[in-house]
Amino acid sequence: MLFFEISLVLFFAFFLSILASFFNVVIYRTSRDETFSKGRSKCDHCHKMIAWYDNIPLSSFLLLKGKCRHCHKKIAKIYFLTELFAFFSGIFLYSAYVYLPFLQNLPISQLAIYFLIFFILCFTLLSDLQYLIVPDFFVVLLSILAVSLQFISGQSWFLPIIAVIFSTTFFYSLSFLAKKMLKKDALGFGDIKLMIPLSFLLSWPKVTLSIFLAFIIGGFFAMLVLITGRKKIGQVLPFAPFLILAVLISFGFGDAIWQWYFGLILN
Ligand SMILES: [Zn+2]
Repeated sequence: MLFFEISLVLFFAFFLSILASFFNVVIYRTSRDETFSKGRSKCDHCHKMIAWYDNIPLSSFLLLKGKCRHCHKKIAKIYFLTELFAFFSGIFLYSAYVYLPFLQNLPISQLAIYFLIFFILCFTLLSDLQYLIVPDFFVVLLSILAVSLQFISGQSWFLPIIAVIFSTTFFYSLSFLAKKMLKKDALGFGDIKLMIPLSFLLSWPKVTLSIFLAFIIGGFFAMLVLITGRKKIGQVLPFAPFLILAVLISFGFGDAIWQWYFGLILN
């Protein structure tokens, strides 16, 4: 029984590392304007095709000691690290499910979708930090998951749709104004697109909190990098990480923050 359970955990964790490996391909190929479904992966240096047995998450990197089989140049560690992160998040998730009874009370389909959303958001964040892009593939995947969640919960579609209309109108007007005033793109379309599924998930009124928090956190961080001299005014900062962080905070603590805030102004 124990053997069965350990195999199950390892299988689940390994499945997540395969997913991580696939998401890395999505990020890498989107950054080069290639379609991610096309052809096998190639080595960054010698451009030789990577055989399937050299492309197994985690184990191939370890067996090849982080080097290409043909040219012996180093393979970027980020692939291995994200696969490792995925593997341990699988083990963590499984243990959390076994030891936390309140998780077992939630429908497993909803739990799976919530986790997948979190997982995709981690890779969206990584993509924006690495290449300043938000792959459309992730936005589409998040949208499908958000809509599925709405179907399962059986709640009204009215507030989530209001939230999407609000956030897209807000960000479009903002990018329009910024373009008029600064004469260049200040807000990426990727960020606006990303906010569509996220606003839908947060629904109204939590979406307003998330936008507010994104600007607070982003502004604070921008000040920090300006003061420390890591960036100059006018240089592009990734915005999706702040959006994602703000959305996660709003999702987890939105109700508590809301109550605290209204308690403050009503007293
Ligand atoms: Zn090579």
